[in-house]
Amino acid sequence: MSETPRSAVGGRRSGVGPHGPKGNRTSEAGEEKPERRTPNPDSPLLSVSHLTTGFDLDGRFVPAVIDVSFDVAAGETLCLVGESGSGKSLTALSIMRLIQAPGRIASGQIRFKGRNLLALAEREMQLVRGAEIGLVFQEPMTALNPVFTIGNQIEETLRIHGRATRATARQKAIDLLATVAVPEPERRVREYPHQLSGGLRQRALIALALACGPAFLIADEPTTALDATIQAQILELLRDLQRRLGLALLLITHDLGVVAEMADRVAVMYAGRIVEQAPVEPLFADPKHPYTRGLMASSPKGEPGARLKAIQGTVPALGSLPSGCAFAPRCPDRFEPCSTAPPRPTDLGRGRSVACYLHETATKARI
Ligand code: ADP
Ligand code: MG
Repeated sequence: MSETPRSAVGGRRSGVGPHGPKGNRTSEAGEEKPERRTPNPDSPLLSVSHLTTGFDLDGRFVPAVIDVSFDVAAGETLCLVGESGSGKSLTALSIMRLIQAPGRIASGQIRFKGRNLLALAEREMQLVRGAEIGLVFQEPMTALNPVFTIGNQIEETLRIHGRATRATARQKAIDLLATVAVPEPERRVREYPHQLSGGLRQRALIALALACGPAFLIADEPTTALDATIQAQILELLRDLQRRLGLALLLITHDLGVVAEMADRVAVMYAGRIVEQAPVEPLFADPKHPYTRGLMASSPKGEPGARLKAIQGTVPALGSLPSGCAFAPRCPDRFEPCSTAPPRPTDLGRGRSVACYLHETATKARI
């Protein structure tokens, strides 16, 4: 069972690196759009503000996502990038309100289409999950149920959300598999997850996430478990779906090549905080935060598949963050204020912000 690249999604590789981010992605007129409410164009589709999530451990709250704020506009791709353990997945799980005890969201707001998700009753939140926000994980085998066919799982989702009846669900499931370029969807719909290759399973999972026509998709390291060729195909599929369906995408990755290829904007995360945010081109052209600069310097030309190589030192452990900037112990540019308190994000204009004393106006005035 080999992975079959499909011309519908496989033919448009721009082959860009960090210095030439992805090309034009205007939506094509006349293409089918899933049913959904149109968000107010003046407000972002998703707005996360001052989110803090952590764990109650031994009677102490240990934060793992700290004062995180970012927006995602309708139709755009925000890449959340950072080393393993920086809090990316917990940020995604917080948005979906899927944090398990002893974890909890301690403070902040998560507004989606103007509604504060943290204030919704669990029943209302269940309707948001899947129907309004789709989630794709790194490892599709854990997200798909091994004892049900792919078709059963998609049909179940469609029926739960009232998007299909017993009579129409099978055909809709087949159509969804075709949308994500699964070859022979009439046959695959009757297969179990273990009968599919890794790439096809990830496509099936994306079909499941898109079943109810969400406006927003969160993809947490969706290609990390796949080999390079299949990874490129899945990224191409995501871009194609985004263009055709007008999806907004929060794409989580530790891979700068993926960022260069996919992002409109980038949020760089370190030890639970967003240390820099910027549109993708200026970020690669002129990274401001020493951590971002380190990442760029240690990534071989942003080739997809290239991992973040070690910057000297290691990410501090949860619960033992330094009192100042968490990156200071590894930072080549650290100076006296860095050990005092974590730097606040400074707005640099043109959609850029950085949390670093090198760029804080008040600090600059002092030095
Ligand atoms: P990332 O996705 O960026 O690799 P995560 O969001 O998964 O990082 O994790 C952030 C931090 O929270 C890590 O230090 C991780 O060890 C910690 N963490 C995640 N889940 C738990 C848990 N259930 N209990 C305690 N710590 C956790
Ligand atoms: Mg993760």
